[in-house]
Amino acid sequence: MAQSSTETDWVSRFADEVIAEAERRAPGKPVVVASGLSPSGPIHLGNLREVMTPHLVADEIRRRGIEVRHVLSWDDYDRYRKVPAGVEGVDESWAQHIGKPLTAVPAPAGSAYGSWAEHFKAAMVEALAELGVEYDPISQTEQYTNGVYREQVLFAMKHRGDIDAVLDQYRTKQKPGGKKPQQKPVDAAELEAAEGSGAAAEDDGSAEGAEYFPYKPYCGACGKDFTKVTSYDDATTELTYVCTEDGFTETVALDEFNRGKLVWKVDWPMRWAYEGVIFEPSGVDHSSPGSSFQVGGQIVHIFGGEQPIGPMYAFVGISGMAKMSSSKGGVPTPADALKIMEPQLLRWLYARRRPNQSFKIAFDQEIQRLYDEWDKLEAKVADGSVLPADAAAHTRAVRTAAGELPRTPRPMPYRTLASVVDITAGHDEQTLRILSDLEPERPLASLDEVRPRLDRAENWITTQVPADQRTLVREEPDTELLASLDDEGRESLRLLLEGLDSHWSLDGLTTLVYGVPKVMAGLEPDAKPTPELKVAQRTFFALLYRLLVTRETGPRLPTLLLAVGADRVRKLLAA
Ligand SMILES: [Zn+2]
Repeated sequence: MAQSSTETDWVSRFADEVIAEAERRAPGKPVVVASGLSPSGPIHLGNLREVMTPHLVADEIRRRGIEVRHVLSWDDYDRYRKVPAGVEGVDESWAQHIGKPLTAVPAPAGSAYGSWAEHFKAAMVEALAELGVEYDPISQTEQYTNGVYREQVLFAMKHRGDIDAVLDQYRTKQKPGGKKPQQKPVDAAELEAAEGSGAAAEDDGSAEGAEYFPYKPYCGACGKDFTKVTSYDDATTELTYVCTEDGFTETVALDEFNRGKLVWKVDWPMRWAYEGVIFEPSGVDHSSPGSSFQVGGQIVHIFGGEQPIGPMYAFVGISGMAKMSSSKGGVPTPADALKIMEPQLLRWLYARRRPNQSFKIAFDQEIQRLYDEWDKLEAKVADGSVLPADAAAHTRAVRTAAGELPRTPRPMPYRTLASVVDITAGHDEQTLRILSDLEPERPLASLDEVRPRLDRAENWITTQVPADQRTLVREEPDTELLASLDDEGRESLRLLLEGLDSHWSLDGLTTLVYGVPKVMAGLEPDAKPTPELKVAQRTFFALLYRLLVTRETGPRLPTLLLAVGADRVRKLLAA
């Protein structure tokens, strides 16, 4: 094992800072870090950074034996802003619910969950469990409707003048869409979704020409938030509102009324103060003047709190999946990523990059290279040659303070597993035979040894690799091509077939396929490659691919030969 990772990576540095700040603000109390997610639709893979950044910092603090609480706020009392495109079981009729809290909107048709919010939370909850993320979930619906924030709501109403004065400094330069930014949108449709239907007023509660109130009730008749507070009495807490949709009006006592919430720009800093949040990152696009983080930094003082340490995190992109998913209208979720890669790999992608560095998560061929890199890192960790910062990222990927994440007992290369399941179309018996042939001195007893990595590679092949890139082994020989071969071509195939039995392993076949062109050129099998030889090897490999899979390229040849099996190779290559 490498030496201690302390102070070698960004996670440790933030942990140092957060611990020191917690000591200063609230000595002796557990450290609080926070994330917020809005279950307004499928929770995108990009938004995982909102959770992973504080998770990694919290986990480092926990490893140091310091008590820490990672609050995950489900912003499920937010209004339903728009019907997201391309969600199964949802049609335009959901538009009638715009303006209701997310927990009051019906779940998509066929869902096992009771509401829109519950439905979209569930997938994320499952993914976070698989990733080993420990957190303390807080439903804002429960908080508000149970009156947990009663004092804070009354306090905000009482100090509405102070709040208004802070907000007013920003109003002229404000841009629409002040909701806590999480992930920079990837296209125009998403940009629209992220900004929602509301203008800035919706987030800070301001209304042209009217008295300012930082609180918005959901209407007692229609359940929506198209309401306007028309009067408030500080002494009695009597509040009157009118619904601009249906004209419904009522007067309620705010000291016992629980069907409404503080507007976002006040809600967020109120919670920082309420929970004593020391660390909460947010998306990079909130740096503009008047952003909810910046405004919140002033409003939090009104509540007697302090702004958290709040690094901005950069965009997490996706390579490859856009094409596959655009027909369904969605972008990938963490659950989609975990179908094609192990949780360790996904954790590593977040751990090794500082929050302000953007990176891409590969759904295309790049995933194979990423896995190669990961396996190399594991090898370096095993032999002790790993660099400290790399060791830290590795540690954070494979275990949390609670223990090691479940791992594949025998992690064979992802690209090999992918090639094999590609060729066998997921046929277990055949897959086991081929994988055992790869290293004959150490045969596999069961496919369980290579799971779950094998399953991830299979999912990748079947869901992400386009049909025209899949490998289809020929049933019958290409007699026309075979008949057209010159003597040299025939002789090279004969040499290959002659050597098959004595070279039937991954290493053996590697030697054989590179060796045949050498022998043809009159060189020794271990001769150094010359430019001419390389051309001859490429020509030979292309011939083999065409005869075996009717294409010019394919999986690595030794793997392909093992997968096809000696008998079928003979049938397809016998000139
Ligand atoms: Zn109404």
